[in-house]
Amino acid sequence: MEIIRAEKMGFCFGVKKAVETCYEVAKTTNGKKYILGMVVHNKDVVKEMESIGFKVVEEDDILKEKDSLEKGDTVIIRAHGTTYEVINKLRNKEVKLYDATCVFVDRIKEILIERQEAGDEIIFIGDKNHPEVKGIISFGKNINVFKNLEELKGSSLNTSKNYSVLTQTTLNKEKFLEIKEYLQKHYSNAQIFDRICGATSERQDATKKLAKITDIVIVIGDLNSSNSKKLLEVALASNPNSYLIQNENELDLSIFHENMRVGITAGASTPEEIIKKIENKIRGNFNV
Ligand code: SF4
Repeated sequence: MEIIRAEKMGFCFGVKKAVETCYEVAKTTNGKKYILGMVVHNKDVVKEMESIGFKVVEEDDILKEKDSLEKGDTVIIRAHGTTYEVINKLRNKEVKLYDATCVFVDRIKEILIERQEAGDEIIFIGDKNHPEVKGIISFGKNINVFKNLEELKGSSLNTSKNYSVLTQTTLNKEKFLEIKEYLQKHYSNAQIFDRICGATSERQDATKKLAKITDIVIVIGDLNSSNSKKLLEVALASNPNSYLIQNENELDLSIFHENMRVGITAGASTPEEIIKKIENKIRGNFNV
């Protein structure tokens, strides 16, 4: 058996920074400490953060004023950011805010505000239920959100309006290019901003390459992580023998055999320790 890792995998820049912020704050801050939602989309990372003194506070509870936050408590905003309403509520509560929103997410938010102020209508491509999208679009008004090209085609865009088109950072690059091509062909009044995060596309490209040269692909990531699910999609397109697992307990050894080339890749919110545990479990059971 041979194990091949994707050329790019695991923690991205934004997630690494958010996790480092948590460790730093844990060391330097006294009093009650909270992380807004999951600091990154990985349950094991959240458990680790709980072990160093953080509690998770949910956005919904803040909005409904059901949280137990008090003046002076510390709250870290996760890498995906949050909504305008939640930030306002937190400011009113006079908690100490640490904003670990990734710079790439922040930049999309800034463009949205700038373009809307300039008079454009905003088209946003992404999953409207994803926290990153909810957060970004909350800074604008009447944003048109489309999940994919099919939804966009079903809409009635106006050829006399100015549109700015923005996307979720984790949108699949190929799907983005299809959307771009469609818009350029039919709507010259749409300005398209390519703000897909480099970390996401690099991981997708590396996974595609890996899936083509291996017999089986193990994608490691949280089942709720958008970028991990997309890595699985990319892997499956080239190699139907691809699986998404969260940790070593979910690894089914019966799917492997001795002569396989095993590809390993991981989402941007998957810590190296989990990847190593899975790799070691395979190594411990086969001749690698
Ligand atoms: S995937 Fe990209 S946008 Fe998202 S947190 Fe990581 S670096 Fe930032």
